[in-house]
Amino acid sequence: MSMIRAIRGATTAAMNTKEEIFSASQEMIEKIIADNDIDVSDISDIIFTVTPDITAAFPAAAVRRMGIADVPLLDMAAPNINDALKMCIRVMVHINTDKSNSELHHVYLRGAKVLRPDIGSKGKISVAIDGPAGAGKSSVAKKLAERLGYIYIDTGAMYRTVGVYGIEKGIDIANEKDRLISELDNIKIEINYENGIQRMYLNGSDVTGRIRENDASMAASAVAVIPEIRERLVAMQQEMAKTGGVIMDGRDIGTKVLPNAELKIYLTASVENRAMRRYKEYVEKGEECDFEAIKADVIKRDYNDTHRAASPLVQADDAILVDTSDMNFEESVAAIEKMIKNTEVH
Ligand code: C5P
Repeated sequence: MSMIRAIRGATTAAMNTKEEIFSASQEMIEKIIADNDIDVSDISDIIFTVTPDITAAFPAAAVRRMGIADVPLLDMAAPNINDALKMCIRVMVHINTDKSNSELHHVYLRGAKVLRPDIGSKGKISVAIDGPAGAGKSSVAKKLAERLGYIYIDTGAMYRTVGVYGIEKGIDIANEKDRLISELDNIKIEINYENGIQRMYLNGSDVTGRIRENDASMAASAVAVIPEIRERLVAMQQEMAKTGGVIMDGRDIGTKVLPNAELKIYLTASVENRAMRRYKEYVEKGEECDFEAIKADVIKRDYNDTHRAASPLVQADDAILVDTSDMNFEESVAAIEKMIKNTEVH
């Protein structure tokens, strides 16, 4: 049933200038529209509040500038709250929608946090999904996030992005670790959610497709053994999870990145099954492949993941083991969905 619902957002401006306030406001509204797949004609009204240090311009004018002409807009002064974020712009976008509250995506950018956790991610928890390559973590996590209105964070994509940087710069990652580490400050990774899909940017270029290529997988494995890089990526991942309501997948999420996650899953399947799934994927794509070679690859990646010194893949003591060898995709999703719902705080 269609009704009016509210989407929240918050961001900050780096400077009290018209350009900066406009750019922060527009970025937030664009993201709310994209992440929630909103048609502008379904927006009922938009209300902004700004902290008292914002005086050079106001967000409503920025939205008009975007060409949103018919929607009622309002700027208001935020109440003075102790320890509140500086230069903060908050928004409430009312939309006419068939979606339930749990399907809405609230947007927090540029260091702004969920300001009303009770509304922003009501009852939602943090879910850590770890497991070996090919267990189906990312497809299961993506489906769950979409169904339950969580944010999906694919941490492997971050290792892959650093790997692609190494390839582009001609760095032999396994043998030139120090070179890659010395360039860490030049590697700017951005993660954007466009229409609910995670897109990866490396120094401004979209590498979402590139990181899935085979050489990027190999490079990611080489990157993943370097403690200095892990430290940097783990800090980013912890920052991203602060809003709550996230499903994060990787190898060290339950043990290292989110040791306090309310729900930890160790998703696995037998080597035969994982190799067979990968084999079928290749066959469906019409690519030449050899089952035994794929199986050998799975065994090798398992060995690498479990034997490296820095954060090896291991099931956290408090993680629930989900073996999907005898489950299809929908059964795997349903099993974890039930666990999330049972753990959510209501
Ligand atoms: O999961 P995916 O295959 O995309 O991961 C790419 C590489 O990054 C893997 O080789 C894996 O070992 C590494 N990785 C990791 N820690 C994570 C996620 C991925 O070491 N949290």
